Amino acid sequence: MRESEKSMKSADDSRNGHRNGGKAQALLEKSIPPQTSLNDSLEGEVREFLTDESQLHTFDDLTKVNPVTPTTVLKCLQARYSAQVFYTQAGCTLVALNPFQPFPGLYSLDTMKQYHAAPQPQELKPHVFIVAEEAYRNIRDQLEPLNQSLVVSGESGAGKTWTSRCLMKYYATVAASSSALKSQSTVERIERRVLDSNPIMEAFGNACTLRNNNSSRFGKFIQLQLNSGQLLVGASVQTYLLEKTRVSCQPASERNFHIFYQMMRGATDEQRREWKMPLNQSFDWLPNSDKQIEEDVFEETVEAMLHMGIKTETQRHILRILAGILHLGNVRFSSPGEEHQLCQLPEDSEESMQTAAKLLSVPAQEFLTCLRVRTLKAGKQSLLKPCSQSECRVRRDCLAKTIYSQLFEWLVIFINNSICADKSTWSSFIGVLDVYGFECFHVNKLEQLCINYANEKLQQHFVAHYLKAQQEEYVSEGLQWSFVKYQDNQSCLDLLEGSPVSVFSLLNEESRLNRASDPNMLRVRLEKELSHNPNISWDKFSRVPHFTVAHYAGRVSYQIEGMVEKNKDPVPAELIGLLQKSDNPLLCQIFSGLESENPTTRGLAKVTVVSKFKNSLESLMSILLNTTPHYTRCIKPNPDCKPLTFKQEEVILQLEACGIVQTIHISAAGFPIRIPFKSFMQRYGLILKHLKRGKSSDDLHVDNNNSPQQEVEQLLSAVLNQRSCDERCLLVHCGRTKVFLTQAMLDVLEDQRRNI
Ligand code: ATP
Ligand code: MG
Repeated sequence: MRESEKSMKSADDSRNGHRNGGKAQALLEKSIPPQTSLNDSLEGEVREFLTDESQLHTFDDLTKVNPVTPTTVLKCLQARYSAQVFYTQAGCTLVALNPFQPFPGLYSLDTMKQYHAAPQPQELKPHVFIVAEEAYRNIRDQLEPLNQSLVVSGESGAGKTWTSRCLMKYYATVAASSSALKSQSTVERIERRVLDSNPIMEAFGNACTLRNNNSSRFGKFIQLQLNSGQLLVGASVQTYLLEKTRVSCQPASERNFHIFYQMMRGATDEQRREWKMPLNQSFDWLPNSDKQIEEDVFEETVEAMLHMGIKTETQRHILRILAGILHLGNVRFSSPGEEHQLCQLPEDSEESMQTAAKLLSVPAQEFLTCLRVRTLKAGKQSLLKPCSQSECRVRRDCLAKTIYSQLFEWLVIFINNSICADKSTWSSFIGVLDVYGFECFHVNKLEQLCINYANEKLQQHFVAHYLKAQQEEYVSEGLQWSFVKYQDNQSCLDLLEGSPVSVFSLLNEESRLNRASDPNMLRVRLEKELSHNPNISWDKFSRVPHFTVAHYAGRVSYQIEGMVEKNKDPVPAELIGLLQKSDNPLLCQIFSGLESENPTTRGLAKVTVVSKFKNSLESLMSILLNTTPHYTRCIKPNPDCKPLTFKQEEVILQLEACGIVQTIHISAAGFPIRIPFKSFMQRYGLILKHLKRGKSSDDLHVDNNNSPQQEVEQLLSAVLNQRSCDERCLLVHCGRTKVFLTQAMLDVLEDQRRNI
């Protein structure tokens, strides 16, 4: 495991809207949304009775904290964190608090064995291994749906990738076809290769950001394939939306993808000569090189690639391409004197251009022409037009982004070919989903729109599953209760992706029109065609065109400027043509299958970013829908990634954004308060005694041989006698072991108790 060495968290994280002190405070003060369970107006007594705060850290399951409110949940998590207990069950979800410090025993082989061997793992302390084991046993027990998915969510730095790695390691150990468990040896062959996919993907897809030194800049769904004997026989990886803009543009105080820094530090002298990369070479696209983070692992990455079957020669091609990209980043253009003149290259840029061309193995002159000249098609004729300085820069960046993202895709395909088992050899799978959490920055663009859309989809899936789980508890408690329909996030999804008209459809239409994009056009259309949807709004006084979406996790304003162009994601045909001619066999292969965009039909037939993302997400959702899901919500306890530091305002926002608060909302649609019979009688038994005094003994006959359930029923019927039938059935239900109450019913009981 690679540990980050230094933190880059010092700068004010202006990109991160979650650091919204006002909102956190409001949430902390508000404590509970109006429609949820017991609220803060029920002071002291009840709260103490229901939850003894000194015992909060002992609650392994948050649903047992009574009442379940954001405040009690928060306090409970904080108490547990202080006691160095990092996992807590929250109904069907596991909450994982990031300790930001390794705890060697927590994930050791012995711990794995302990959870794997336990007759009832649920009886052990909450742990991500329980989630892993539960999924594994569901398959063993042939429960339907057979395939399992482990959905790991949370904000950047919360620990999703760490958790996913733990899960993979668990299966690579307990489901190893080798005798890894017995021999304590490192896992072998296929298990080893499955695990080796992590360092490779992280080297190419992770970067140091303000929020996380090892931030995944792509989403990942890994499918672990098991044979009929439940042994791990292979895996496949699906990735989502790599943040390719990072190659050519790194936000302030952030860095490029790790692999570039790894190369820069780990290269041999010979490689340095080949790549023209002496130690003191500075690259525009390698900012913050002095921060030594995740980079002394070049050898590990190379080793992992070798295990994966990427031969030394192919690795050489990969690394030459990457070195070429870095030199390309040092190519600058000076402004031409006249519009029809070509942009010139300053002397040092000329050298960088020559080196880049050499490393990418493309003819230098054609390379330069591609960067500086546009081909316009007019009928059958082609016109050549010199690019402006900014157009040259756009083409340079586009070239780098295209090469990098295609290389990443090639790697994923290679990894899949190396680790994917033949369909005939596996009969079930466990999917591990590690996707970016909800994002809300000061400026939100197309990427955030896609990411938050993905989170809406996952939330919808979670809500549906959660309701089902709750319904099942009601059934097991013998409650005849048909669920109140919960207002889910469908209207937000309709807004984003619905038909016939939605944000995505309008964005795509604008992107397909062969005209220069104008942010106002999209804004006008959004306003005209979507204003009926309550989830969208506009600030009429804002100078920057934008639209605001009310997501389940909060409101996010999206900047319209640049959205259409980003959605088109155009790659000039000349650039692809150039790369197809490369003498670097890998580069040539990567681009050989790629159709160059025809300038005459520019964009018409092209799949937009949004539609591609939507399609990949839809296939993910259909996979998830046919699996038994298990949710792990990772929580980042402080913004600075400090070990063992718990900031309430940080956590409360995440509880809301990752849906824990939402879960409370949902539970309010049924009976949010559940009190075991004994506790119930201890608190409210005196109401019954009091009523008895005022009534005839026939009316209130108490039989000492009554079962706890009968006692409770008697008390309830006495209390509810004055109320109408309709009202009664809305208030309370008596299960097999506990009483299920609404807040209104609790109010009634509390009133009666006070008035004794
Ligand atoms: P992103 O969305 O940016 O990719 P993430 O949720 O994947 O973020 P991770 O990279 O998994 O976050 O975790 C951030 C850091 O927190 C890790 O590099 C590691 O240092 C630490 N960390 C996470 N989980 C644990 C854990 N269970 N024990 C110890 N340290 C942890
Ligand atoms: Mg990650």
